[in-house]
Amino acid sequence: MRKTKMVCTIGPSTDGYNNIVKLLKNGMNVARLNMSHGNLESHQKTLDAVKQARKDLGVPCAIMVDTCGPELRIGTFADHQVTLTKGQLFVFSTTEVVGTANEVYCGYPALLDRLKPKQKLYANNGLLEFTIQRVENGKIVCKVDVGGDLSNHKSISIPRIRLPLPFISEKDEKNIEFAAKNDVEFISASFVSTPEDVKEMRECIKKYGGRQEIISKIESAEGIANLEKIIDVSDGIMVARGDMGTEIPIEQIPAVQKNMIDRVIQKGKRVIVATEMLESMIYKRRPTRAETTDVAQAIYDGTTATMLSGETASGQFPFEAASTMAKIITATEKVIAYDKEKPTMKHEHKNLDAISYSACAAAKSLNAKAIVCFTDKGKTAKMISRFNPKATIVAITHNEFVYNDLGLAWGVCPVMTNELNSLEEMLETAEKVVKDLKLAKAGDTIVVTLGVPASEKGTTNAIKITQIS
Ligand code: PGA
Ligand code: MN
Repeated sequence: MRKTKMVCTIGPSTDGYNNIVKLLKNGMNVARLNMSHGNLESHQKTLDAVKQARKDLGVPCAIMVDTCGPELRIGTFADHQVTLTKGQLFVFSTTEVVGTANEVYCGYPALLDRLKPKQKLYANNGLLEFTIQRVENGKIVCKVDVGGDLSNHKSISIPRIRLPLPFISEKDEKNIEFAAKNDVEFISASFVSTPEDVKEMRECIKKYGGRQEIISKIESAEGIANLEKIIDVSDGIMVARGDMGTEIPIEQIPAVQKNMIDRVIQKGKRVIVATEMLESMIYKRRPTRAETTDVAQAIYDGTTATMLSGETASGQFPFEAASTMAKIITATEKVIAYDKEKPTMKHEHKNLDAISYSACAAAKSLNAKAIVCFTDKGKTAKMISRFNPKATIVAITHNEFVYNDLGLAWGVCPVMTNELNSLEEMLETAEKVVKDLKLAKAGDTIVVTLGVPASEKGTTNAIKITQIS
């Protein structure tokens, strides 16, 4: 059973019920809806299709709504697209103009007093580079350092500049309302740079009666600087390498990724490595060797999940991309010696810390085939997960939200049951589930965590070691 999870972005190449069924069969654990593209109507259709497909196939799948966040976008060109050449001047104008090869609208006047000559500016995820020459009369006059094609509504980035934008725009608020109304499991928040951003998002979710978990996308230098405090108030982190790659020197990304994964896992939260993982598969059936190794490296680093963006959203080989990624993950996990290191207690969340640590230690020394946890809120499963046990973590829950939410938890196989009301019933269920999943057979040992008495919900306080009969 694959331990590392896979997020697939749904788009024109994969929307529609049949495609989503195919993605689920190819290993998708989380379906991501990118609100920077499409409209609420199309997203509603996709979301309904994911809910139907996961139900029909009887598999867990979390849904993640990805906000636009505070990003700068240019206006439109008379002919949709222009080509800029190195050395030419190009103007970003804060007053409305029709775009040409010499200028384009960029309606953020508050930017002007934050910019100085010699600052760098990027477009198209860093493919086009500019140096600011001067800022005058509402215009940012730049020299093109690296030319290329620039088309309507492309985003631009200016490293290390605090944007003059609210963290949650009107459009974002509508999308958060949409996520809350549809009771999706996750919101991934773009361009989180401070813990206050996360708190603001949480307030907004609450305002619409939602219970979404927040995955903070770290994609700015400020976000990296505030990482520790952002982790503390988030439910998970995305290493958003796309925008990050223009915000910090690109050669620093591998070290930042490794450190982020470590910091997040330590705290029992989820982390997703994102962007350009199998980028060449947008056009080709097979990935490059470097991409293959990039996915594997994220697994060695211990990430909770890896993500596909354009590969599944708009690529020519979306299903191949998903199955290729799943295969790389499985092959890499096979050679990693999980359980090699002794787990160490962290003394956070006291009882649960002790239980999760002890369950993993017992599973390791008894060579248990599964760690079964009965969980109401999913917390126990997540706490066990942070020790990366070799044994599969089987999370049994009667809560459908938790069941799908745990689609994004390392090493966890979520299982839905009815509410169970006695110890006997729970142990019987644990045995049956691991046998049905073919994780263990007669004579094998499993470790079970549960709450005693069974009538007291939400209190995991016991570990039972059982031999399968
Ligand atoms: P995006 O975020 O795909 O929404 O831009 C991910 C990233 O920037 O890496
Ligand atoms: Mn981004």
